Amino acid sequence: MRTLFGDHPATAPLDGRDVQFLDTTLRDGEQAPGISLTPDEKAEIALALDEADVEFVEAGSACTGPGERETIARVTDLGLDARVTSFARGVENDVDLALDCGVDGINLVVPASDRHVEDKVDSTREAVVAETVELVEYAKEHGLWVEVLGEDGSRADLEFLTELMGAAVDAGADRICAPDTVGHATPDRMLEIYAELSDLGPTSMHTHDDLGLAVMNALVGVAAGADLVHGTINGIGERAGNVALEEVAIALDHGYGVETLDTEMLYDLGQLVASKTGVPLAPNKAVVGENAFTHESGIHTDGTLKDDAMYEPYPPEKVGRTRRLVLGKHAGRAGVRAALAEHDIEVDADDLGDVVERVKRLGDRGKRVTDADLLTFAEEVQGRERERRVELLDLTAASGSGTPTASVRLQVDGEERVASGTGSGPVDAAIAAVKSALGSASNAQLDSYHVDAITGGTDAVVTVEVEMSRGDRSVTVAASDSDITTASVRAMVDSLDRLLADADTPVLADD
Ligand SMILES: [Zn+2]
Repeated sequence: MRTLFGDHPATAPLDGRDVQFLDTTLRDGEQAPGISLTPDEKAEIALALDEADVEFVEAGSACTGPGERETIARVTDLGLDARVTSFARGVENDVDLALDCGVDGINLVVPASDRHVEDKVDSTREAVVAETVELVEYAKEHGLWVEVLGEDGSRADLEFLTELMGAAVDAGADRICAPDTVGHATPDRMLEIYAELSDLGPTSMHTHDDLGLAVMNALVGVAAGADLVHGTINGIGERAGNVALEEVAIALDHGYGVETLDTEMLYDLGQLVASKTGVPLAPNKAVVGENAFTHESGIHTDGTLKDDAMYEPYPPEKVGRTRRLVLGKHAGRAGVRAALAEHDIEVDADDLGDVVERVKRLGDRGKRVTDADLLTFAEEVQGRERERRVELLDLTAASGSGTPTASVRLQVDGEERVASGTGSGPVDAAIAAVKSALGSASNAQLDSYHVDAITGGTDAVVTVEVEMSRGDRSVTVAASDSDITTASVRAMVDSLDRLLADADTPVLADD
């Protein structure tokens, strides 16, 4: 049996505990600066959360306005298995507005710290307790599931917090929560609070990451008895963000064998929320970051090739991902040989040494070595000549006040092809033109598209790296240019050229 604080009397073993999630990506997450989700986007995220077996979805704050109420109603109309809730301040009108949206429950937020009781709402402790009791009774009479949150609970006087939460439970609240609203609490403070609250009734955790302690604090609360954790996908939220739901889920699962939701959906959820909110993931982000299961160094790659678990705490498949071995300045022989084998290329020991040298030299210049680089090195070292099947001859793109358009001239199996396309921007239009020029031969999928500016000014050289696949083959290619459209098209055309390299079919046969 494992407990977070040894045999501290306030904590129970975590093994086998039943812990659920309340996802607040659509409410607290959306409160992060610059994020605004449309009703359709909220519905799409809510459906994905439901599919992953998240138990509660806080869909928004009904009091925000008619637009927000429309989005909440959109989520409640989805008929999810998850219970849908709305944030409500401690006023009756907020409860009414939530009811109008058809929610199953409310997250009723009442002031708990003196800072909030006195300075924010200009009230008294006694009045807050009385109003909270009234509101809980009102909401329960209207059939709502009610969670009462004592705002700024981690900075509240614990004696008053306990009195307030006790009164809420007595009035019929389904659960209580002392949110760490400003991410102020240390784990020992969290333990102190939840040791008290857990004696009153079912408790929830709501932690923020201002001290980088959000996951730790959520786990401490669970150890002290909480069985519902509020979190957001990718940890988006006010300031440093809320606790990342995926991090709590995997910590409970990997560390303590506590199953909470379908962890295999975590990566897709992370990607979905990143794309809808426009908040990118740091490469080193736990669970869902680009590098979380990517190995570059020779030592780690060699170890991983011998034993998958050598440099990973848990298999990537557990969170819906795959492992990647990439090449760079830290590359070693085993990793390079394995990467070449993926493209069905065998090299002898001498040639392998030469390819490794070239890979390292490119890596030393701060470059990530793509498949196209690796294949070119192997061709050079082995003295193989390769005929290109697809080549970009010319590209023009126009954007501005009208519809962005582009035209391309390609050489395909020795034949010239010209086509044009339109799109949401010049890059999109140019890619459409390439697809049109290649017809069904471009039956390849763009799996990732990544842009890096090498210098910081408006004259920056940009590097576009794409990953494309066709059938069971995939290839990464990078291209640099001062023009982003040119770099994008060159990377894509070079990928297609590589993907079609060993295809037997003539490129232009079938259209
Ligand atoms: Zn919050």
